[in-house]
Amino acid sequence: MMLGLLLARAGVDVVVLEKHADFLRDFRGDTIHPSTLEVMHELGLLERLLTLPHQKVPRINGQFGDLTLTVADFSSLSTQCRFVAFMPQWDFLNFLAEEAARYSTFQLRRQADVTDLIEEAGSVRGLRANTPDGPLEVRADLVVGADGRRSVVRRQAGFSIEEFGAPMDVLWFRLSRKSSDSGDPIGRFDAGRIFIMLNRGDYWQCGFVIQKGSRDQLQEQGLPAFRNVVAQLVPFMADRVGELHDWEPIKLLTVQVDRLRQWYRPGLLCIGDAAHAMSPVGGVGINLAIQDAVATANLLATPLCDGRVTTEDLHRVQQRREWPTRMTQRVQLAIQNRVIRRVLTDRGKFSPPFAIRLLALVPFLRRIPARMIGLGFRPEHVHTSDTKTPPATTEVVSH
Ligand SMILES: Cc1cc2nc3c(=O)[nH]c(=O)nc-3n(C[C@H](O)[C@H](O)[C@H](O)COP(=O)(O)OP(=O)(O)OC[C@H]3O[C@@H](n4cnc5c(N)ncnc54)[C@H](O)[C@@H]3O)c2cc1C
Repeated sequence: MMLGLLLARAGVDVVVLEKHADFLRDFRGDTIHPSTLEVMHELGLLERLLTLPHQKVPRINGQFGDLTLTVADFSSLSTQCRFVAFMPQWDFLNFLAEEAARYSTFQLRRQADVTDLIEEAGSVRGLRANTPDGPLEVRADLVVGADGRRSVVRRQAGFSIEEFGAPMDVLWFRLSRKSSDSGDPIGRFDAGRIFIMLNRGDYWQCGFVIQKGSRDQLQEQGLPAFRNVVAQLVPFMADRVGELHDWEPIKLLTVQVDRLRQWYRPGLLCIGDAAHAMSPVGGVGINLAIQDAVATANLLATPLCDGRVTTEDLHRVQQRREWPTRMTQRVQLAIQNRVIRRVLTDRGKFSPPFAIRLLALVPFLRRIPARMIGLGFRPEHVHTSDTKTPPATTEVVSH
């Protein structure tokens, strides 16, 4: 959606295909980071975005056993916004869609489920999708696969994928929120358990991190045992865990971390999770996907307008975004393997991992996670213009 907005704004004809009828998916995180807010500022959209309901979170706190600690403090960043804005992702996507719709070069087709690529003479020339009105064929100078970690585009393109594995999955469910509850996001780490709660107004979006493949075992122990664990971790929720009547609303989100070796082929480019599925660690995946979109628009808007996108142009996008992706995934994998795996397998008395104790001892070090989470390794800036001239055609599969 972000790439669709940027390209349409720069005068490129864009069709965004989204398989669902709306953006009301609750499994993609709610975080809009300082670098994304900076992009919104550069687009002149920041003030309007921040009129939508959101929470400003200037510090990320976590509770590690008995130790409560600020893990990242964004106040030291030199950005317009020194906080993470927590906003349901569907509000953010609807906002981008509305802004993009102001350009005659932008078209959003919902309920368009991409199934296949159109290939001719070794190049991708468009794609096929199923819609409620029947099959849809779209031809384009460039197809951009931004269809997430289960990307159909990357599968159809036959890209080779490097898998890095993850020791955990997440159980994702809601519990009601009272006006007397704290508004801040909550992160609890204890022996064998990691639990997060995001404030979504009248309910808490809860994420209970489990060892990969251990859901059946947890279910065998029974729902009352699960409710007890949640109540022990967050005692003020004890009066609400009874809302979990059965396992059905407790969804299993599988975590995967991978990266395409090559993100492009003639006529086709993958970005976001389709190019590199991100771990939820640090909650940076949305941000990274948006940074990819900004870099892609910066590098491709002019060639698309001129109708001459080359494979070399697509290579430049990968070249620009591969290093920050690698670095982010490297840090995520280190935290997954050294902290999360340890916490989840810990059965004794919980002691915070060394890295966490170090952050507690040396507050200055909290600037490092703040920078990594808030800005990432290579923050992008909008270099595309706002013109209404529509020359070339491109398709973005979803946002
Ligand atoms: C449990 C969990 C929690 C997370 N929490 C956070 C967090 O708090 N903050 C954060 O920054 N990151 C978080 N992440 C990572 C984040 O969700 C992803 O990195 C980010 O959403 C990637 O954005 P994307 O636009 O590339 O893909 P997605 O957000 O997955 O979007 C893909 C879009 O493509 C559409 N689509 C899929 N297939 C098709 C098709 N065939 N045809 C048409 N459309 C299609 C989908 O409907 C969807 O709209 C989390 C990940 C997990 C697993």
